[in-house]
Amino acid sequence: MKIPFNRVYITGKEVEFFTQALYSRGHCGNHGFGKKCATFLEQKFGFTEVFLVPSGTDALEMGALLADLKKDDEVILPSWTFSSTANAIVLAGATPVFCEVDPKTMNIDASKIEKLITPRTKMIVPIDYAGVPCELREIRKIADKHNLTLMLDAAQSMTSTYGDDYWRLADLVTFSFHETKNFSCGEGGALCVNRRRYLPRAEFLQEKGTDRTQLMKGVISRYSWVDKGSSYLLSDLLAAVLYSQLESIDEITQKRKQIWDAYKKLLAPYEQRGLVRTPHVPQGATVNYHAFWVIFDNEANQMRFMNKLREVDVHSYIGYVPLHSSKMGVNFGYKEGDLPITEDCFRRLARLPFFTDLASDGLEVCLERMKNVLQQLYGSL
Ligand SMILES: *Cc1c(COP(=O)(O)O)cnc(C)c1O
Repeated sequence: MKIPFNRVYITGKEVEFFTQALYSRGHCGNHGFGKKCATFLEQKFGFTEVFLVPSGTDALEMGALLADLKKDDEVILPSWTFSSTANAIVLAGATPVFCEVDPKTMNIDASKIEKLITPRTKMIVPIDYAGVPCELREIRKIADKHNLTLMLDAAQSMTSTYGDDYWRLADLVTFSFHETKNFSCGEGGALCVNRRRYLPRAEFLQEKGTDRTQLMKGVISRYSWVDKGSSYLLSDLLAAVLYSQLESIDEITQKRKQIWDAYKKLLAPYEQRGLVRTPHVPQGATVNYHAFWVIFDNEANQMRFMNKLREVDVHSYIGYVPLHSSKMGVNFGYKEGDLPITEDCFRRLARLPFFTDLASDGLEVCLERMKNVLQQLYGSL
């Protein structure tokens, strides 16, 4: 039995909703299912307004444009993130400034943000790695003190919690519905707006720089080019698939919890002896069980673990190649050694197979094989 790293989950309602969307003949963005998804997210998380977009990447790009980033502006983000977080900043013409992580969560170390702020700093973009919420309340205070925009890249953390107002703290929040995420429609995303001042510019940006949304609302009788923009709209055919997944949030989360709990239990004896570390969920926070990582005691054991697992057809993966030490990061003047904590964690971290179906199909086999490999590494505990 092969245990892949990821596999798309199908709730069963996708076909019905997709067929409805197909025959509704409203296939472009902001139709029936798109509106249903946006309303669902607004109500569940308390956002002022939600824009469904073609990807998490587009949500970040649209957010960077809304924040009005300009050439020479600086944006602080963790080096431990996906390229899209940085690309949104770079495409807007601004400069990424990379911050260290807190090795307990692999999220941005909030205590190290302030010393990176310069007169050119315009925005902070933290992420919630593996679905574990970052220290957003503390980051909000820093943003307020220095008058900075705060955009949370929550591509991985939809439905995680950290206090009642977690989802309202950032000015802008982005989600991803890529097939590797908990709730997916293949490719998709959302830009969630928490401040009225971003409306209606967000509508213009989404609709190719036009005020077409005002026309659709019946406010004006013809639309025209009023701002810069692009086509940041998710087709209603995909929104239909997404809606079936949003209706199954509880079922999906329950299944993923089983996997998370099983991994925690398997690794507990090794963690207690200080041989490995696993994600720490801060006091008062809950996780959506997006992904699970293990940081080994050294690089050699991380490699042995991943290789031995592959030999028994269980597929783990590394986290990220840190952005600051990648080719683009070097172009921005960074070098190996600039962020030693991030680099050290990168060399020792492996992500375990994690997908919704694993809970009912393969988890026992996966745990058994992993246990075996751990025993080869550390002896039986
Ligand atoms: C997945 C992901 C993205 C990109 O989302 P897409 O929908 O694939 O464009 C951005 N940031 C983070 C942290 C992600 O995990």
